[in-house]
Amino acid sequence: MFAQPAPDLAGTARGREAQALLRNCVHCGFCLPACPTYRITGNELDSPRGRIYLIKQVVEGAPATATTREHLDRCLTCRACERACPSGVEYGRLIDLGRELVEERVPRTPLQRMTRWAFVAALSRPRLFAALLRVGQAVRSRLPPPLQARIPLRPVAAGAVPIARHARHVALLEGCVQPGLAPGINHAAARVFDRIGISVERIAGEQCCGALGHHLGHTERALEQARRNVDACCAALDGGAEAIVSSASACGLMLKDYGRLLANDPAYAAGAKRVSEATRDISEIVTPSGLARAGLKPGGGPCVAWQAPCTLQHGQRLAGRAEALLQAAGFELVPTPESTLCCGSAGTYSILQPELAQELRRRKIAALTTSAPAVIATGNVGCLEHLRPVSPVPVRHWIELVAEALDR
Ligand code: SF4
Ligand code: SF4
Repeated sequence: MFAQPAPDLAGTARGREAQALLRNCVHCGFCLPACPTYRITGNELDSPRGRIYLIKQVVEGAPATATTREHLDRCLTCRACERACPSGVEYGRLIDLGRELVEERVPRTPLQRMTRWAFVAALSRPRLFAALLRVGQAVRSRLPPPLQARIPLRPVAAGAVPIARHARHVALLEGCVQPGLAPGINHAAARVFDRIGISVERIAGEQCCGALGHHLGHTERALEQARRNVDACCAALDGGAEAIVSSASACGLMLKDYGRLLANDPAYAAGAKRVSEATRDISEIVTPSGLARAGLKPGGGPCVAWQAPCTLQHGQRLAGRAEALLQAAGFELVPTPESTLCCGSAGTYSILQPELAQELRRRKIAALTTSAPAVIATGNVGCLEHLRPVSPVPVRHWIELVAEALDR
């Protein structure tokens, strides 16, 4: 798709990037059936091809409207369309750029801006989020049922983190909401790592990865958080950590993107590239052979339905790894239809686009429970907390299931 950037963009880095990204799209429409929002609304403008066309118009100087912004807002940034595209269109980069341009041209109302700012502020500060969560848990029983469902009960004690005793060690990203919502996940990761001969250390000075702000158009704030994390992660790598690991696939994906996001920052480009190259999802560190050496063997365990987070399967392109580890730990995987479709969580999407998010969740739960599993496993706390309130069976992080299998 040829685009001629408008005079205010022509010759700029953004204009050149937009032109290069748009060029690969040949309008074929192969991406349409892969798109969750198009499958629900049936509107071309809620499809990847339609959104790409809207972005092209904005790049060329056509006036953007609130309707343009709404169609871009409805995109989950799940990147299922990238996997389906035969022309290699980097849709994830294109939608970020399109949103940035539309945000500048169609300002939101003060109330909308404040709401989005409040989400970023509350969700990206672990202590503030944990305090708000405790207040919510204290008054939970007095809230209306839809709000109650959003606030998880206080998590059970998560088990002790093993002391560092191995020569091999990794630096574990704690995340912002996960320590409050589900502290057992990182404890389970530390226990599994310990059993396969790897110690885990904290990352001193860790900040929010920036993904929330980045996808809500708070670009500068997100880049500042990325810079602080580059400093913190480089210090951990200098201290001998062999990798920066994350048990939340959304955060891991963001760190893997730091190299690109800070490529034009002379002070941080090299450090950001180093951090991106050293970042691993936990499913890249734990291996089936490592679990076998720790005493686990395939077969005989409960049936599990795997919910593949988009950030893991489409963003990080790590489909199949967690599934293989669950099988190596003895669990039986049941088939799940439409496994490439998003569950509707997508960061703050479930709050800002509740109708689409709830319909996607309803479809996802129906797909995951077709074979009557005993438990649903996933690899990202956002998906877990989105599905949990309406799931008829427990929803767990896969590393918790593996840790429990090792404990048995
Ligand atoms: S599949 Fe790729 S090339 Fe075809 S319309 Fe979609 S984004 Fe464009
Ligand atoms: S990122 Fe997901 S929701 Fe957005 S256009 Fe692509 S497939 Fe559709």
